[in-house]
Amino acid sequence: MPFTVAIVGRPNVGKSTLFNRLVGKKLAIVDDTPGVTRDRREGTGRIGDLDFKVIDTAGLEEAFDDSLEARMREQTELALDEADMTLFMIDARAGVTPLDEHFADWLRERNKDVVLLANKCEGNKADNGIYEAYGLGLGDPYPFSAEHGVGMSNVYDALQPAYDKWCEDNAELLEEEKLLAQVQTRTIITEDGEEIEEQDFSKSPLQVAIVGRPNVGKSTLINQLLGTERLLTGPEAGITRDSIALDYEVDGRKIKLIDTAGMRRRTKVNEKVETLSAADSRRAIRFAQIVCLVLDSNVMLEKQDLVIAKETIDEGRALVIVCNKWDDVKNRKEVLQKLSDRMETSMPQVRGIPVITLSAKTGKGTDRLFPAIFDLYESWNARVPTGQLNRWLEQMTEMHPPPLSSGRRLRLRYMTQAKTRPPTFVIFANKPGDLPGSYLRYLSNSIREDFDIQGVPIRVMLRKGD
Ligand code: GDP
Ligand code: GDP
Repeated sequence: MPFTVAIVGRPNVGKSTLFNRLVGKKLAIVDDTPGVTRDRREGTGRIGDLDFKVIDTAGLEEAFDDSLEARMREQTELALDEADMTLFMIDARAGVTPLDEHFADWLRERNKDVVLLANKCEGNKADNGIYEAYGLGLGDPYPFSAEHGVGMSNVYDALQPAYDKWCEDNAELLEEEKLLAQVQTRTIITEDGEEIEEQDFSKSPLQVAIVGRPNVGKSTLINQLLGTERLLTGPEAGITRDSIALDYEVDGRKIKLIDTAGMRRRTKVNEKVETLSAADSRRAIRFAQIVCLVLDSNVMLEKQDLVIAKETIDEGRALVIVCNKWDDVKNRKEVLQKLSDRMETSMPQVRGIPVITLSAKTGKGTDRLFPAIFDLYESWNARVPTGQLNRWLEQMTEMHPPPLSSGRRLRLRYMTQAKTRPPTFVIFANKPGDLPGSYLRYLSNSIREDFDIQGVPIRVMLRKGD
């Protein structure tokens, strides 16, 4: 009885493509049992450390006769009944169509655990579709590209809360399964008879975006990191779609470098460079887990840099500041002081953002970048056990009680970490609306200090609970 996920949506949004990606071609266990389930495929999916069963409802279109809608509904209904959660997909390039809306209404009525995935987001053609998708009333859309495999961490984030809850609810059964698994081999035999080790999450690529204003040295940095001249082929030579994301490895860890400079080169033939770079970085941030904001050290933190930094933080991504062209800086102390002052005033909500000074051109200092990224990634994934949090909350409220509200003491009753990436905490209070922002900031800063979660955004939300 694994956690079961159904992929639904109108034809052509990319359901099968996602299915294949989750299941992995080699390991696909495709069940084509004829009969009622003829039009759907099932397989064992995996993303990061999540294992689940996937049901793909694609392929329905071939069976359509008179009523497309009725048929889709029937098939989808069967899949939904079986599933613990539903991934509802739209094609963000095509925008939200009436059929998508119809589907969304119907899913909402059924009150199932649904998340909205916006597919085909690898280029700027998807931007409008993503905004339209907010209007479907199914929560924030998770953008990604099934075909290019970009933004799979968003799909992971979409699945994880329901997955975690399911694991909690089924803890006993899972424990038994785990015991059983221990006596079984950890090697998977593929269809070809090849033996491979089971993949673990630490081996799935870390998505790192390199963003920044034009000319700060992004391409130079990427070339330096890759140690090749791969990115230097111009648009005339026909840069491949792969230049959006470059696979790379450091200390045995897979990295997917998302290269916005490459995106710009690809499209700058017919669009304005400046406007494009802003949109590119926005897109890259959405896809990334870690965002490296590259600065020209001689032109520290301009308005446009701050916009990117703010977007990164607002999107809950982890930010690294790369001060490039350090070889070219005369007054290093002054430059660092200026940077630190600007960060203090412009991004006070995140403390401990790592700053790496380096020269992409000479390579000096570039070896410090990835260790910083790995540390930051750990913070971003930090999880504090509920017991520990509640003991902490008790101490904090004792030391500094929340204020009175119309003569009554505000009570913070319970606290839990709702998710990681970024660390997100929920506190239940008797009158959440009355708690001053300053008190929330006090808690949020103390969480950061006491649990040593540095350099990444932390979210603290209040909910009503007596
Ligand atoms: P389904 O009918 O929902 O299962 O859709 P498919 O998986 O068959 O995909 C429909 C079409 O969309 C195919 O031509 C895919 O190659 C294409 N497609 C799927 N994912 C993406 C994507 O991320 N980006 C783009 N541009 N095309 C995609
Ligand atoms: P991009 O537009 O951000 O991709 O920037 P490029 O990588 O094309 O670099 C812009 C210019 O800055 C080029 O002339 C580079 O040679 C120069 N540059 C890049 N990195 C460095 C560096 O570390 N030191 C110095 N002095 N110049 C650099």
